[in-house]
Amino acid sequence: MNSDMSDFHWAMQIIGDLDAGLIVVDKNFKVCAWNNFMQSYSGITAEKILNHNLFEVVPDLPKSWLVKKVMASFSLNTRGFSCWEDRPYLFKFKNFTPISNGLTEMRQNITFSPLTDVNGNVSHISLIIHDVTEIAKNTLHLENSNHQLSTLSKIDGLTQLYNRAYWESCLKKEFNEARAAERVSSIVMFDIDHFKKVNDNFGHTVGDDVIRDAAELLRKTSRNTDICGRYGGEEFTVILPYTNAEQAFYFTERLRKRIENSTISTENEEIHYRVSLGICELSNEHPDHLSWLEAADKALYYSKENGRNQSNVFCTTLMP
Ligand code: GH3
Ligand code: MG
Ligand code: MG
Repeated sequence: MNSDMSDFHWAMQIIGDLDAGLIVVDKNFKVCAWNNFMQSYSGITAEKILNHNLFEVVPDLPKSWLVKKVMASFSLNTRGFSCWEDRPYLFKFKNFTPISNGLTEMRQNITFSPLTDVNGNVSHISLIIHDVTEIAKNTLHLENSNHQLSTLSKIDGLTQLYNRAYWESCLKKEFNEARAAERVSSIVMFDIDHFKKVNDNFGHTVGDDVIRDAAELLRKTSRNTDICGRYGGEEFTVILPYTNAEQAFYFTERLRKRIENSTISTENEEIHYRVSLGICELSNEHPDHLSWLEAADKALYYSKENGRNQSNVFCTTLMP
């Protein structure tokens, strides 16, 4: 074998063993190279595909997309790429890795390179198919984890309502938006009556059940657009966008009655509990979102002082 021939022979061996798919096509998509990787993943032997039209042997390829990509490399004499994030795969190959993370098909990055003949004219295009399933899996895993983390930091573990920090950020946003748009908005703050007695008489676990029940009834009573939070121990807050005080009062009374009629079953007996609620509609008297909240808290305090198990709307003269 002369040296040119041995170079060629080696090159063919390297291409054959490449841990990536290699295909060469001409302008008419006649297949001129199809390496071992392509054979083993597609199940199509080189013998069956060489000198045949690619689309005839592999009919489920995205033809118009692929023609466009290959023709661009032909006419511009430049390399082209396709990334798994834009197009997950070109060839539908099974992903055999045990932890698939929902990826049942191999994810592929593809390079399209023009190949020139002795005269320097582009005569063929090579496609190199990289298996990037592992990278895709890690990226997706990271995205999922980040999503879970950001959800965790917003949600209260006991009730699955928004936690105080996140709810307050929503309140600030609502304050600014309602102000700017000059639209109505109300907030509600409520607290379970004599909750210490529940804990003292039945224990903390039953106390937790009561808190969860209140959260569940709040969820059922509110609309999708209402923003419900657990503000502290047995204290809850709600933003009611596009709602005036009168409509908010209707909401709080419905919630209050629902809670009053709810029963928590323990081993020995059934528990009833009640809540007191305070409402405040946004007005020009509130310089910021926290003073708005403070007014709702005053209305809640008024409900407590006035006998509990009731709702009251904030009123400057009654609640200084
Ligand atoms: P009031 O009608 O004036 O609100 O009386 P109250 O007994 O409910 O008084 P307060 O609101 O001050 O009581 C809050 C109690 O809630 C005190 C605290 O031990 C209890 N608590 C706070 N967080 C939790 C919790 O996550 N689980 C349980 N079981 N209890 C909690
Ligand atoms: Mg309480
Ligand atoms: Mg309290």
